[in-house]
Amino acid sequence: MIAFYMDFFATHLNVLDEPVQVPKKDGSIKERTRTNQELLTFAEFHTLATKAHPNPGWPLGEHVPAAEGMPTELRRAAINQAIGKVRSWWSRLKTWEKTAPDQRGREPRLGEPNEPVTFYAGMVGHPAYDLNPQKKKRHTFISLKLHTGLKWEKVPLPVVVHAQAESLLAGSALEKERIDRERKRSKTGQAGSGREERGSGVGTWVAKSLTVYGKRDKRYPGGVRYEIHIPMEKWVNAPPKAEKQRQANPQMPVVTVDLGVGRLAVMGAFVEGRLTATRFVDGRALNHRRHRLLVAIYRKRAQSGRIQRGVQDNVALWNKIRNLDEHAAKQTAVVIVRFAKEHGAKVIVFEYLRRYRPPKEKMSRSGRKNHKRAYWLRGQIMEWVRDLAFREGILTVERNPAYTSQVCPHCKVLGKRQGSRFTCKNPNHRYSADADFVGMMNLYRKWTKTFVYPQRGDESKPEVA
Ligand SMILES: [Zn+2]
Repeated sequence: MIAFYMDFFATHLNVLDEPVQVPKKDGSIKERTRTNQELLTFAEFHTLATKAHPNPGWPLGEHVPAAEGMPTELRRAAINQAIGKVRSWWSRLKTWEKTAPDQRGREPRLGEPNEPVTFYAGMVGHPAYDLNPQKKKRHTFISLKLHTGLKWEKVPLPVVVHAQAESLLAGSALEKERIDRERKRSKTGQAGSGREERGSGVGTWVAKSLTVYGKRDKRYPGGVRYEIHIPMEKWVNAPPKAEKQRQANPQMPVVTVDLGVGRLAVMGAFVEGRLTATRFVDGRALNHRRHRLLVAIYRKRAQSGRIQRGVQDNVALWNKIRNLDEHAAKQTAVVIVRFAKEHGAKVIVFEYLRRYRPPKEKMSRSGRKNHKRAYWLRGQIMEWVRDLAFREGILTVERNPAYTSQVCPHCKVLGKRQGSRFTCKNPNHRYSADADFVGMMNLYRKWTKTFVYPQRGDESKPEVA
């Protein structure tokens, strides 16, 4: 189906660029190119037979016999996929033609359709609410509307559903039932908008249309393992801006987090303006493992001589590193958000992450790469925290990182940093602590706006954190 429509649009490229005139509200006329929706209508008009228009120019039925009885949503999804593919190819081709011949590179190709398939509401029977009784059986089934070679029919397929997904889906089914009930009620009685119906369902996950992906996997029949991806949607009440919350209650509980390389995270909970709890997430084991894998990669590269351009080398090892990092980032983020929830914090304070600067000291190639990845991981952790926290109504803010691990959090005098150790230089204050811990403490001062920046000429320039 996608191939058919790709073909259709590739031979009607003019409809992509051709301007159409649209009347605006004030009577004037605006020119623009067709929207995807208009292209879809255009394609359906010229390919589908209707009573008013029985002989379309490009009859779909003749080229794709399986289109007979295909669910409308699936056909529309296919058309949209085709539009996207042809559009991107066409614009790449145009830029390619414009660039000087000696810088061109390969001519862009339209390629083949290889999209995952999305199944819309009418095409799926979720296992949903009857999940519990079915647990006695060996499999949970999901029924999908598929073309069996002769006709479209609902086919039950065994699926493996993880326990957490199971409870989420069951909850989603209940929530959907509730929304349907509300909708019926509002139709018969007073008018209600969709938002009101959702209103009481704030905080409940609802499953959206699922997508089936095929992934290469030798352990499965046909060498393909099918995965069902179900996007989940949840409505949350957006909390007020962090600064507004702070002004309303300057002593409000917050969690500050210092992200580091050796220690992935040092977090502190501040309640009523006082530090009440701390927590550390160590990253040394992760760094060590990652380093060992990188060493292996560089050794293999050296052995194989030249590496081919445009071809990924050591795929399995790189995948392992990626998985390792992604897992660590997610886990750390989960710990941080849980910590914030435990202490009733509504805001998590991070320091703003500066651009990566390679370390000054001499390092091996794998060591440098390892350092860079560890640094990059901090950004990943922050992204996950932002996402996970927002679902709980917790905001994430960033503060200026200058001097956070150089100034004594108690007497505000510039200190000295040696490795991971901070020592206060104030002769009347004997204080030494972990530099990441100091960073975490100072971030709280930055949040409450009580941080004192060292004066110009106070001391030498700040050291790099
Ligand atoms: Zn001090």
